[in-house]
Amino acid sequence: MAVTQKTSATEQTEPQETFQSLSPATGEVVGTFPIMGADDVNAAVARGREAFEWWQSIGWDGRKQKLTAFKAEIARNIEELSRLVREENGKPYADAFLEAVMTIEHMAWAASHAPKVLKRKRVPSGLFLANYGAYLEYQAFGVIGVIGPWNYPVYTPMGSIGYALAAGNAVVYKPSEYTPAVGKWLEAACARAIPEAPVFQVVTGLGATGNALCTSGVDKLAFTGSGRTGKKVMAACAENLTPVLMELGGKDAMIVADDANLDEAAQAAVWGGLQNAGQACVSIERVYVTEAVYDEFVGKVKDEADKVRCGAAEDSDIGPITMPSQKDIIAAHLDDAFKRGARAIVGGPDAVHGAFVDPVVLVDVPEDSPAIREETFGPTLPVIKVRDVDEAIDKANGTPYGLASAVFAKKRAMEIAASLRAGMTSVNSVVTFAGVPSLPFGGVGDSGFGRIHGADGLREFSRAHAITKKRFNMPLDLMTFQRDPKLIPRVTRLIKLLHGRG
Ligand code: NAD
Repeated sequence: MAVTQKTSATEQTEPQETFQSLSPATGEVVGTFPIMGADDVNAAVARGREAFEWWQSIGWDGRKQKLTAFKAEIARNIEELSRLVREENGKPYADAFLEAVMTIEHMAWAASHAPKVLKRKRVPSGLFLANYGAYLEYQAFGVIGVIGPWNYPVYTPMGSIGYALAAGNAVVYKPSEYTPAVGKWLEAACARAIPEAPVFQVVTGLGATGNALCTSGVDKLAFTGSGRTGKKVMAACAENLTPVLMELGGKDAMIVADDANLDEAAQAAVWGGLQNAGQACVSIERVYVTEAVYDEFVGKVKDEADKVRCGAAEDSDIGPITMPSQKDIIAAHLDDAFKRGARAIVGGPDAVHGAFVDPVVLVDVPEDSPAIREETFGPTLPVIKVRDVDEAIDKANGTPYGLASAVFAKKRAMEIAASLRAGMTSVNSVVTFAGVPSLPFGGVGDSGFGRIHGADGLREFSRAHAITKKRFNMPLDLMTFQRDPKLIPRVTRLIKLLHGRG
């Protein structure tokens, strides 16, 4: 990412600031984009408001049809999108393809389930208001602002964008300054599928453009990124009481119990920790292994991790670090761990080189070190010996984060999963919850709040609207000044009969 000033081609006197996104692997320019200011952002939100009116007017069936066309547009061009993600983010083609596939699945689910989850439905009205019909419906907010990260530039923002559109909103999206071309590609795909109105628009720029979106008067702001930026976003949104959804970082733990299938657990730990060069909010960043199986597990992890190839080649397993400044954090976590006596059984202190970080598997890392407590966001995997599963649970729950987690066990697997303080847990697998559209995705604690995906994700982009409708008059009516005074002793007897025991 590089910022430049240039005079526009039409020789206007006002210089237009632009920025470039660069391939993290080669440094080549992927695209040049305007740094949009508050006026541009406000204009996009105003266009979004008009588009929202049209989007509402076509109803549930109309939106389902249009969103299906948007999804189909992505599916038909999945190779082009995956290549662009590879170019701009640096990840291997297969990983880019995987995130596009998961996105398509989510869009299909959101489009077809939105009516069922959100449409008006009748609910019980209770004994004392039996003469009323009670109805619950979920209404769209209006225009949703979405601010996204660079690590999954398709899957992550579309988890908000797709579900917000399905719930009947228009969307204005500010992609990361490291992956604006992918954002613009998605906007163009939507415009081809839904040419009638700009229900999904992209504004490009750096942090200030994101801030402008927060203060633009959007009806809700869905943020995915670091906790540090998330706090700024919340503060900016507080000015207009704009509600927020926060999808933040993680320090996900995996637990390996005595009775785990160690071959599968080792493979999953290595993939979960190193895939996308560890640049996933739901990366496995710590593995707690019971002492009975620790040595055997560590040996298997070493065998697996030794095979992982890092580089820019087409057949590499992991690519470059997308955001250059992240390499300093990865290096600092490794340095600190080595100074405190940690050992690398794969890789070593020279893992960070150029744009790349080679895989590192660490053992003997002190529990209070940044490599165990803070988000590393790199291809490093600390494996920690614990006495038993209970100690593993305590330690897994011992950071302020609570995004996802994984458990490898047989007998107590579901019990261990239930005791983890996390938004998501995969048992005998890693990250699989992310591919199930009917499951909500989100964290607790420093990992944020609110949910994308699933029925909860659709409701996140809607407001509940409660309606009661009188069907007939009933003598038993307490909600009027005309109520019969004899009603109070009668209702007193009734309420004691119904609820006075227990
Ligand atoms: P970041 O916080 O640096 O940036 C995120 C976005 O916020 C970018 O688009 C950026 O331009 C924008 N931004 C920066 N300053 C802003 C401001 N003052 N106001 C408004 N917007 C502003 O995060 P990142 O480096 O792009 O992403 C990596 C982080 O995202 C990691 O912590 C990762 O764990 C997290 N993440 C979380 C999830 C999840 O679902 N929980 C998913 C993917 C990534």
